[in-house]
Amino acid sequence: MPLDYPAPIQRLIVQLKSLPGIGPRSAERMALWLLQAGRERVLPLAAALKGISEQVERCEDCGFFLELNAPCLLCTDAKRNRHIICVVEQAADVLRLERSRAFQGQYHVLGGKLSPLDNVTPEDLRIESLARRVVELPATEVILALSSDVEGEATAHYLADALRHTQTSISRLAQGMPAGGNLDHVDELTLYQALQGRRVV
Ligand SMILES: [Zn+2]
Repeated sequence: MPLDYPAPIQRLIVQLKSLPGIGPRSAERMALWLLQAGRERVLPLAAALKGISEQVERCEDCGFFLELNAPCLLCTDAKRNRHIICVVEQAADVLRLERSRAFQGQYHVLGGKLSPLDNVTPEDLRIESLARRVVELPATEVILALSSDVEGEATAHYLADALRHTQTSISRLAQGMPAGGNLDHVDELTLYQALQGRRVV
């Protein structure tokens, strides 16, 4: 057997390597850096990791993150319009829209977009809870703030069909969204304009 790092270091490298965007070389560098950095750097990192696994949950309604047992600041905010829902793919999109200050209604985090190639089916997305909320709130308008790529389009059409029986008005973000782009790559002003210029699906 060729020489390798002791098992605890190997285990750390395996974990780091499994993170998005981290290759084997970076994982090795990070592991060795952490070893060098010592306890005062490593323990807070370990505590933060423990924290996100034990003290964070998702709001059952909007799907955004919550600190364990705390109320959802979005869903319980009485100043927000309860009759309009903005549907986004990821929780990070909620913050992006909030920073654009273009939207004052309810959010719904889908958890992704339909993608047969990646095995993402309607059952993997928070579509049932969306349909429930549209009826319960009730929502008179649903804005689909999804990517403008093929998967985003497919998801928008699927949602429009799934919500048709609720008679709610369904619109999509309009001009300003780059073709093939998701909310990640859009600046706040563009996002604001896209939201203002939404069109009915
Ligand atoms: Zn919520």
